[in-house]
Amino acid sequence: MMSKAIVIGSGFGGLALAIRLQAAGIPTLILEQRDKPGGRAYVYQDQGFTFDAGPTVITDPSAIEELFTLADKRLADYVELMPVTPFYRLCWESGKVFDYDNDQAHLEEQIGQFNPSDVEGYRRFLSYSQAVFKEGYLKLGTVPFLSFRDMVRAGPQLARLQAWRSVYSMVAKFIEDDHLRQAFSFHSLLVGGNPFATSSICDSRA
Ligand SMILES: Cc1cc2nc3c(=O)[nH]c(=O)nc-3n(C[C@H](O)[C@H](O)[C@H](O)COP(=O)(O)OP(=O)(O)OC[C@H]3O[C@@H](n4cnc5c(N)ncnc54)[C@H](O)[C@@H]3O)c2cc1C
Repeated sequence: MMSKAIVIGSGFGGLALAIRLQAAGIPTLILEQRDKPGGRAYVYQDQGFTFDAGPTVITDPSAIEELFTLADKRLADYVELMPVTPFYRLCWESGKVFDYDNDQAHLEEQIGQFNPSDVEGYRRFLSYSQAVFKEGYLKLGTVPFLSFRDMVRAGPQLARLQAWRSVYSMVAKFIEDDHLRQAFSFHSLLVGGNPFATSSICDSRA
């Protein structure tokens, strides 16, 4: 059993790890190079306004709830999570706009306005994404890949999901319109990844 631990970085990852370590009874120290915690979720003030530097929506509330439960706390005692519509709005210089929300009919209506034949492609993309979410996020998301054997064991799943393809190239298999290809592949940018190079299964939460 570890007697104490040091976590470097206080982004969501570092904070989550520190909570898990402390909940396991291991005294933990977090080191952060910036003036306050948050990492990409840093919050700052400028000219009387408050800016969220990164995340806007919580895509997996259960991950946060799990941490509160581990720490013997209730999330609801600290924050109220509220639905938000749309999740975000994409605006192109051409004036085109795409609102991303969880209303399937509304999404398909917008997709149809960009390119009618992409509605069917989007439906196929959605069922592919559900498989990626199950295999890539729910199953492999918790595998630490500490050994070569872990990698080999995950091989068949990764091959089935065509993990060697980039996010953009996988989206482009289903969607023709370039605006829509961008709309469904840009998310890897949020974790510092290039959509043309990042593996398609790394975007499984988005
Ligand atoms: C614009 C934008 C929008 C996003 N929107 C969403 C969203 O809506 N929903 C969502 O779920 N996710 C979103 N994300 C992604 C999410 O913000 C990140 O996945 C998450 O915050 C990453 O956390 P992390 O702990 O892995 O890394 P980071 O947040 O990068 O944390 C790393 C920390 O380590 C510190 N550090 C690094 N090196 C050292 C060192 N040597 N010594 C001390 N400290 C060090 C850094 O200062 C930083 O605080 C968004 C990201 C961006 C940029």
